[in-house]
Amino acid sequence: MAASGLAMVPSLSWGSSRASAGPTVGLLQDVTLPWGDDAPALRARLLANENPYGPSEAVRRAIAEAVGLGNRYGHEDAARLIDRIAEKEGVTKDHIMLGPGSTDLLEKTAIACFLQGGNLVSADPSYMSIINTAKAIGAEWRPVPLTADYAHDLKAMAAAVDAQTKLVYVCNPNNPLGSLTPQAGLRQFCSEVSDRVPVFVDEAYVEFLDNPAGNTVVGLVAQGKDVIVARTFSKIHGMAGLRIGYIVAQPERISQLSAMVRSTFGLCVTSVCGALASLQDAAFTERCHRLNLECRAYVSHELKALGYPYIPSVTNFVIFPIRGEAPAFQQSLRNEGIGIRMFEIGGKPWCRVSVGTMPEMQLFVEALKKVSV
Ligand code: PLP
Repeated sequence: MAASGLAMVPSLSWGSSRASAGPTVGLLQDVTLPWGDDAPALRARLLANENPYGPSEAVRRAIAEAVGLGNRYGHEDAARLIDRIAEKEGVTKDHIMLGPGSTDLLEKTAIACFLQGGNLVSADPSYMSIINTAKAIGAEWRPVPLTADYAHDLKAMAAAVDAQTKLVYVCNPNNPLGSLTPQAGLRQFCSEVSDRVPVFVDEAYVEFLDNPAGNTVVGLVAQGKDVIVARTFSKIHGMAGLRIGYIVAQPERISQLSAMVRSTFGLCVTSVCGALASLQDAAFTERCHRLNLECRAYVSHELKALGYPYIPSVTNFVIFPIRGEAPAFQQSLRNEGIGIRMFEIGGKPWCRVSVGTMPEMQLFVEALKKVSV
């Protein structure tokens, strides 16, 4: 992945993200303008890394059937889902906690870890959800710039851990870059660092990889390591709006969290039954995987042809540095009905485009050609 793409990627100096005083400001800023009432109808929604093919027919049927269960709390169905996930992940059911989306579990983990202060070590740029919650309740954020090939700098992250560190966050593959930190080093890092402090590994996009089983650290949980792995039904399962995700962690961590906050009680029985159906529908997720690969290859090829040095992605989105200013670039695409996400990384403007259907990607490329003249 890196070898083919790196030659065309700009050599970036990530610099230091440490602020001299006050709360730490990272390299990443989301500078996306709201869609706005004045904007034309959205023709290609490529702004939230959603799966354009979901939910599957099997999920729709399961949800329709589950509507009739809506007068009762869904504890039994949630328990069935926990059993099914535990079996899939090779752990016992006391290692699993469900939530309405993995965002919910990221936030709850932040609350549980940082109520008494402390610091959070993570890569920068990375997915900001857990970081924002931790900072909001008073944690210190210790951002560690990514390496030149967009992987987590595991050595520097391990060195940033001290007696005040309450959690280490790793997003792999990483959002918004779409890059992967290789397993060998990551597994060793998680194994060693989790002897000192819990390590939270957010694997929201792992199913888009060609070899998800070889790129997850979930096996470390079964080995007794203090690693928390987050997964979501929002991405490969195409269920973002149905809000369901889970974590796999040591039973003590699950107990610590569920003593403080709701777990299955926060879930809709329809989504739980939909998730159960989706776990049995390998044909659907395999199709999504294949279509994502095709559309990502297409958009990557077109970006290259237009001279945009994108970061090679293993996910369902691609990020590239733009020429010109972020607001004008976004406005031009918006005028064509194309929704994307704009970021500044180290003060420079980047566009993140989610991988939609082929017709959506063609619309994006046509619009991009107009913007790029
Ligand atoms: N983690 C990462 C890295 C993400 O990119 C996202 C969503 O885009 C999430 C977690 C949250 O997903 P959800 O709350 O829909 O499960």
